[in-house]
Amino acid sequence: MSNETLQAVKGMNDILPDETGLWLWFEDTVREWLEAYGYRNIRMPLLEQTGLFKRAIGEVTDIVEKEMYSFEDSLNGDQLTLRPEGTASCVRAALQHNLLYNAPQRLWYTGPMFRHERPQKGRYRQFHQFGVEALGFAGPDIDAEQIVMCARLWKKLGISDVSLQINTLGDTDSRQRHRDKLIAYFEQHKDALDADAQRRLYSNPLRILDTKNPAMQELVGNAPRLMDELEADALAHFEAVQAILRQHDIAFEINPRLVRGLDYYNRTVFEWVTTRLGAQGTICAGGRFDGLIAQIGGKSAPACGFAMGVERLLALVLEDGRQVPPEPLDVYVVHQGEAAQVLAWRCAETLRDGGLRVLLHCGGGSFKSQMKKADGSGAQYAIIIGDDEAAANAVTLKPLRGGEQQRVDMRDLQQKLHESIK
Ligand code: ATP
Ligand code: MG
Repeated sequence: MSNETLQAVKGMNDILPDETGLWLWFEDTVREWLEAYGYRNIRMPLLEQTGLFKRAIGEVTDIVEKEMYSFEDSLNGDQLTLRPEGTASCVRAALQHNLLYNAPQRLWYTGPMFRHERPQKGRYRQFHQFGVEALGFAGPDIDAEQIVMCARLWKKLGISDVSLQINTLGDTDSRQRHRDKLIAYFEQHKDALDADAQRRLYSNPLRILDTKNPAMQELVGNAPRLMDELEADALAHFEAVQAILRQHDIAFEINPRLVRGLDYYNRTVFEWVTTRLGAQGTICAGGRFDGLIAQIGGKSAPACGFAMGVERLLALVLEDGRQVPPEPLDVYVVHQGEAAQVLAWRCAETLRDGGLRVLLHCGGGSFKSQMKKADGSGAQYAIIIGDDEAAANAVTLKPLRGGEQQRVDMRDLQQKLHESIK
C-alpha cells in the first residue's frame, strides 16, 4: 500500500478552523437577511437524477455539456449527478411535495455545488451558493424585490463597488424571432465564429452572445438585439422592474448581451459584478424562469430567483479587510487528582448550563503545564481544582488578564462568574 499522504480532490477545498469564523458570520448575516424578506429554508439532496439537470438547465450549455459530475449507480444503473446548481432541485422538490398547491413560495437554500471546471481563484469544483427562488410569482415586483434585497445584503456585508447589469430575454415568440435573426446574422459571419460558436449556431445561438472570446466581441456586439423584438407585455414588465429600481436609487446598466449560462431564463435576467476578482467577477446572478416548472413536469407557474457564490463574496469581504475574531472562551478548567476530576467535570457542566463557554482540560499533566494552556487559550478565567478545593467543594478562580485569584464555594460560582463576565 502506498504511504503517500492523501490529498483532497483537485478544486475541492477544506475550509479550516481559522477560516470558518468568517463563514459562520457570513451564513448568519445572510440567514437574517433572508428572514427579513420572508424567505423560508428548503434543503435538497446533493445527488439527483442526471435527467433533471439535462431537462432543466438545457443540453447545450456549459454545465450539461462539460461540467457535471455524473456517474452510474452501481446498484441499479441509475444515472446520477452531483448537483451543479440548486434551482432544478428546488423546483423538483416543490413539485414533488406539492408546495405550490395553494400559495406561492419564497424559498432559499445553501450548500455545496459541483462543477468540473478548471480550478483557479474564485472558480472551484466544489463551491458554495446561497440560492433564492420565488415560485408562483408573475409580476415585476418580485424580480425587483430580489434585486433590491441583494443591494441591502451588499450593504450589510460592507461590500462596495459591485455593479448591477440587467437585461430581458423576452418571451417565447420574441426569442424565436430573435433566434432566427441571430442565426441569419452569424451565418453571414461564419468564418469569424470560434469552434464553440459554430457548434451552437443552430442548437443554441443565444449562448454565442455570452462568449468570453475576445476575438468575437465585435461580432457579438453588432448582433441583432432581442430588445428590438420584445412583445409589449415583456417590455412593460422590464420597464416596471426598472421603475422600482429607480425608486430605490439602485444604479444599473442594461446589458443586451447578458443572456446567462442556463437555458431556463426568460424576461428579467441580472448579474451583480465586480472588477476586483479578475475574470471571476460575477458574484450573484439570476432572473425569471417562467417555463421551468412546466418543463420539469409541473403545472405551469411563473418564477424568479438568483444564486450567489459564497467563495467570491468572501474573497471580497476579506479584501475589504474584515476580520471576524474567534468567540473567546470564558473559562478554562484545570484539575489534578481523582476527586478534583469529578468536581471539575461537574463544575464545567454546571457552567455550560449557565451558558458559558468552558474548556475542560483533558489529558492530565502538571498544574504548571495546564496553566500554560489556560493562559494560551484566550479564556477570561482559569478555574483551578486540586485536592484542597475538592475537599472543600470549592474552586480557585483566577482571572487570566490581571487581578487576584480567590477561593469560591461551588454553590456561589455560577453567580460570581455571571457578575464578572459580560
Ligand atoms: P461564470 O460565468 O463565472 O462561470 P455562471 O454563470 O456559471 O458563472 P451561475 O450558474 O449563475 O454561474 O452561478 C451563480 C454564482 O455562483 C456565480 O455568479 C458565481 O458567483 C458562483 N459560481 C459559479 N460557478 C462557480 C465556481 N466554479 N466556483 C465558484 N463560484 C462559482
Ligand atoms: Mg460557469
